[in-house]
Amino acid sequence: MDELSLQKTKGAYTSAGIHPWWLEDFTRAEILKLQDNILNLVREKRLWAIGETGIDRVYPETLEYQIELFHWHRELADDFGLPLVIHNVRSGSDFLNILKKNPPKSPWVFHDFRGNEELVKELLRLHPESYFSFGISIDNSPQIRELLPTIPLSQVFLETDSQKHLDIHEIYLRASEKIGIDLDFLKSQVWLNFKRISPQHLSQ
Ligand SMILES: [Zn+2]
Repeated sequence: MDELSLQKTKGAYTSAGIHPWWLEDFTRAEILKLQDNILNLVREKRLWAIGETGIDRVYPETLEYQIELFHWHRELADDFGLPLVIHNVRSGSDFLNILKKNPPKSPWVFHDFRGNEELVKELLRLHPESYFSFGISIDNSPQIRELLPTIPLSQVFLETDSQKHLDIHEIYLRASEKIGIDLDFLKSQVWLNFKRISPQHLSQ
């Protein structure tokens, strides 16, 4: 999120947010500073998306603060018309509750999604612009292997997450096998999804 890392990603599509895990390590003052930095980047139109933000129930000590910050991120995404990239761990019902109270204007991308078919259906019902991103879980999680083919292709993304040793081409290949569709077709579908959710100032 600093100047240096942004320069490195020049020409790429950048997202910035405060990860729920960071709340253990940073003070409130430091988090406020990060919020300020993100706000500046958004105003300068340097971001493709907001996030990761999210709710991780493996860290209950910071849960309240996570939710507070999630709302801050989601409002920012709504105000500036940017997609929201969401870290979600055992928090499906939290997002359902939030969606019931206050439907968003921006697309929500649930990254490294680990929920079930029921949750996907419910999220899509409450927010049709929900997207589900998958990485290595399509290989190592039997639940996700089963889930992937049931998700509408128009809502799918693929990722390596933070695992630098993974090759995104490999993930696409595995996904096309699991879904049972042609690799190039899958690529073009995900590209269409990317274009569809890209903010207007970047979609030309
Ligand atoms: Zn995450």
